Amino acid sequence: MERRHFLSTALLSAANPLLQSFSAPDAHTAAALQESAREIPVTGEYDVIVCGAGPAGVSAAIEAGRNGAKTLLLEVHGCLGGVWTSGNLTWIIDNQNKPGLMREIMQDLTQRGGSATISGGDSFGFDAEEMKVLLEEYCLKANVTVRLFTRVAATAKKDNRLTHIVTESKSGREAWAGKIFIDCSGDGDLAAQAGCKYEYGGSDGVGQPMSLLCLVSGIHYNEIKPFVRDAEDSKIGTPSKKRLENEIIRGGVKPSYTRPGLYPIREDLYMLMTNHEYGFNGTDANQVSLATLRARAELHKIVNGLRGLGGVWKNLRIVATGEQIGVREGRRIHGLYTVTRKDLMEGARQHDAVCRVNMGVDVHSVKKDDESKGSYSRGVKLLPYDIPMRALIASDVQGLMMAGRCISGDFIAHSSYRVTGNAVPMGQAAGRVGAIAALSNRLPQEVKWEEVKWQVE
Ligand SMILES: Cc1cc2nc3c(=O)[nH]c(=O)nc-3n(C[C@H](O)[C@H](O)[C@H](O)COP(=O)(O)OP(=O)(O)OC[C@H]3O[C@@H](n4cnc5c(N)ncnc54)[C@H](O)[C@@H]3O)c2cc1C
Repeated sequence: MERRHFLSTALLSAANPLLQSFSAPDAHTAAALQESAREIPVTGEYDVIVCGAGPAGVSAAIEAGRNGAKTLLLEVHGCLGGVWTSGNLTWIIDNQNKPGLMREIMQDLTQRGGSATISGGDSFGFDAEEMKVLLEEYCLKANVTVRLFTRVAATAKKDNRLTHIVTESKSGREAWAGKIFIDCSGDGDLAAQAGCKYEYGGSDGVGQPMSLLCLVSGIHYNEIKPFVRDAEDSKIGTPSKKRLENEIIRGGVKPSYTRPGLYPIREDLYMLMTNHEYGFNGTDANQVSLATLRARAELHKIVNGLRGLGGVWKNLRIVATGEQIGVREGRRIHGLYTVTRKDLMEGARQHDAVCRVNMGVDVHSVKKDDESKGSYSRGVKLLPYDIPMRALIASDVQGLMMAGRCISGDFIAHSSYRVTGNAVPMGQAAGRVGAIAALSNRLPQEVKWEEVKWQVE
């Protein structure tokens, strides 16, 4: 029988206990409750533990599994894919020069009829349901243990090395032992809980707005083409967005995002991005809740307004709003290297390059008043630049890596590299380095880059 280990909560930072009841000092006046010490079962031991199954996390787990590491992938929502699936963001930017898993995903989706039937030009559109099932198949094949509906809630360290994470789910509170941990939570939850330092937002500490995305149907490409952000539209500077904004206004609503887009998936299925929620922090549950309720109400008003116009819109319907509002800004965890605006302007080359970024700076204004005034590029003329592996290794805690939007970078650099065409190679590279480190009992920074046999196109 497998030996059961227990961790004492006294060693861990506090979080709400599940499946446990304890007596309150005074039910009516207590400002805080004292959680009693208890034992948490260690549910499993893994070589690599990945927190968050978005584009970065799922890639990290698949690659670690394919490299022979016993791998656990933890996700708080009910499917794999993060913003691609729970967020309905069916549009992959900066995918062109990305070999490896990014290309494999696009090819497999195309082969099974899951890619968009209308070209988005350089961006790759897809069907979110096809993406969900494809990612599950990859994980099963790579022997990755997938645990859904499970939130990473606390960590345990020994001599500043991460040894366990603690999760909460329907199964209560559980601990998981690991050799290498990869934070792919987008918001840097794991690293923050482990005590890593981080940055958030721009110089004033305010982040970019959130946007709730939805899938819509009941419209037909040949009738609404002027409003669709397709390949032809992107070549001539996306005039579709201004037309769509005017059409939404004609339907009786001024959209909170002045550059709304209808992104094609199938002739009768589109992703709609038309909302900006300013001033909310994605790491505050109250603020995310409020932003989500506001955004969902606005999306329904917009779609109802368009449908009320009749004509080509008369059958427009929301198929689904995102389970998760799109959060652009999260914690940027301090790493062994920080990608900066200067790297973008100089087109930095790195000996340990994980991917080469082509995506320009895309700062969605942090204040509503600046939305139509400010330039999204912030005046940065970018040259394709490299993300080094060192930006994916935490500097404050040992045995911890990051991939996706929570890597180490400044506000401007993050506004360029954050798109999913870069999240995938970051995740894949972190998964490979994590597996090599775990299987040879080393830290990620002790793995020589030549051993990783990584190629950037
Ligand atoms: C509105 C919006 C529009 C965008 N447009 C585009 C676009 O058109 N194309 C493009 O390529 N990119 C776009 N981006 C950028 C891109 O979507 C993100 O930067 C990308 O999601 C980064 O991937 P990720 O894996 O780091 O994070 P995410 O996709 O956010 O994945 C993080 C995962 O971790 C899980 N998680 C979080 N916390 C925990 C926890 N404590 N425990 C367990 N699981 C946890 C989440 O549920 C999620 O599944 C957009 C972003 C937004 C918000």
